[in-house]
Amino acid sequence: MSRVDLKPADLGASGWNAILSPRPARAALDADIECDYLVIGAGFAGLSAARRLRQLEPGASIVILEAQAVAAGPAGRNSGFMIDLPHALASGSYQGDSSQDLRNIRMNRAAIAFAADAVREYGFAEESFDPCGKINAAAGRPGQQHNEDYAAHLDALGEPYEMLDAQAMRDVCGSDYYLGGLRTPGTAVIQPALYIRSLADALVTRAGCRLYEHSPVQALSRQGERWLASSATGSVSAQRVLLAVNGLIETFGFYRRRLMHINLYASMTRQLTAAEVDTLGGVASWGFTPSDPIGSTLRRIDGSGGPRLVIRNRCTYEAALSLPPDRLRQIARDHRRTFDARFPMLAHVEMEYCWSGRLCLSRNDVWALGELEQGLFSACCQNGLGTTRGTIAGIVAAEMASGVDADSLIPDFEAQVRPRRLFPEPFMSLGARGAIKLKEWRAGPDL
Ligand SMILES: Cc1cc2nc3c(=O)[nH]c(=O)nc-3n(C[C@H](O)[C@H](O)[C@H](O)COP(=O)(O)OP(=O)(O)OC[C@H]3O[C@@H](n4cnc5c(N)ncnc54)[C@H](O)[C@@H]3O)c2cc1C
Repeated sequence: MSRVDLKPADLGASGWNAILSPRPARAALDADIECDYLVIGAGFAGLSAARRLRQLEPGASIVILEAQAVAAGPAGRNSGFMIDLPHALASGSYQGDSSQDLRNIRMNRAAIAFAADAVREYGFAEESFDPCGKINAAAGRPGQQHNEDYAAHLDALGEPYEMLDAQAMRDVCGSDYYLGGLRTPGTAVIQPALYIRSLADALVTRAGCRLYEHSPVQALSRQGERWLASSATGSVSAQRVLLAVNGLIETFGFYRRRLMHINLYASMTRQLTAAEVDTLGGVASWGFTPSDPIGSTLRRIDGSGGPRLVIRNRCTYEAALSLPPDRLRQIARDHRRTFDARFPMLAHVEMEYCWSGRLCLSRNDVWALGELEQGLFSACCQNGLGTTRGTIAGIVAAEMASGVDADSLIPDFEAQVRPRRLFPEPFMSLGARGAIKLKEWRAGPDL
């Protein structure tokens, strides 16, 4: 029996979710029910797993339990870059081990295609998913150097890209802050909360899954050939269970002291007026990832909620799964400063939302993915790129859990070694925090 120790999680309301029309959450679990497959967690991994299970087994009964409202967690809090190219957050650059890169690119693209297929099949709104590519923006000399190194790496991989100079960057974003950029075409940019809401709802209305929100699993135990998951108000008895809770898999008793919990932070402006949009200039929507991985992610959006800018920077390492409640105050000041440096013409525009969200890394950049015990599968630890890698994890775990003999959608996936052990405390926290601080300091204007 594993008793799940639930933690308070993310701070602040995600702007992505708040600017959409309110969505009534589906009812909480309030009975003792049975199913073939139980998916715990309705983020990228859980929802992708449910969709893949449905494709493999049209007649199976599938239940999804989500602790919060759909899209209230990290899946609805991220910057929305579904990136196809290497993106190793734990390394000093976006380049991983180049022998792995081509395989990773194929897996990432299979995940993006899986998402695009759901968007098409279920008819999601256009702004939920835009396969428009992205720009690695460089504001300082180290950022420029990262882009030059990245370009050489892309040349070696035979991947297309375009270098942008300062004027071209200004034409896109209206700011003369950037020295240059590197545009790649394969990223899909999503409205994360809209994509996740749409996928969750379509899995219920179009694919016949049962979804219960505000239903945190508090205990999970094996009962003969089946598994029993209990919430405060009901239980699910399932033949197979997929844990798609990312770093919170530790609370189920697995991978303890092997996962690093990182918090990221974002702020979104209020809706810009027509005059402010004119003053800003540039194009109506764009997405910048930082050329220095520790730097700022920026997006300009122009869908539900009108024209706005979104900035993401700063990250913190937490040994525990919770955050000090006053953390956002300091982060909001950093966001203001870094935003104003880029957009001085909008220095009077308030940030309407500021929020945090968790992601999970392993020291050796592997997933916590596979069969944990008979009939119990993990689809966790997405190593930063959770929109894409969470989708891969969900697909792979579903294919493992299902007995159906079918071609894998992710044929490049290889069985994972275990995430490497963390160093003992306090060395782990001191080391991780020191490394983050050093990288943030080195990033200079790219932060
Ligand atoms: C500010 C920010 C920016 C980011 N930007 C990007 C980006 O641009 N691109 C990118 O790829 N990634 C980005 N990420 C990371 C990305 O959001 C995560 O990696 C991704 O959400 C992980 O997906 P997941 O499905 O594995 O887990 P999650 O999205 O965390 O979903 C897990 C779900 O499980 C639920 N859960 C947990 N415990 C229980 C329980 N006991 N019972 C029931 N349900 C439970 C949680 O409530 C949660 O909804 C960003 C993250 C943040 C915070």
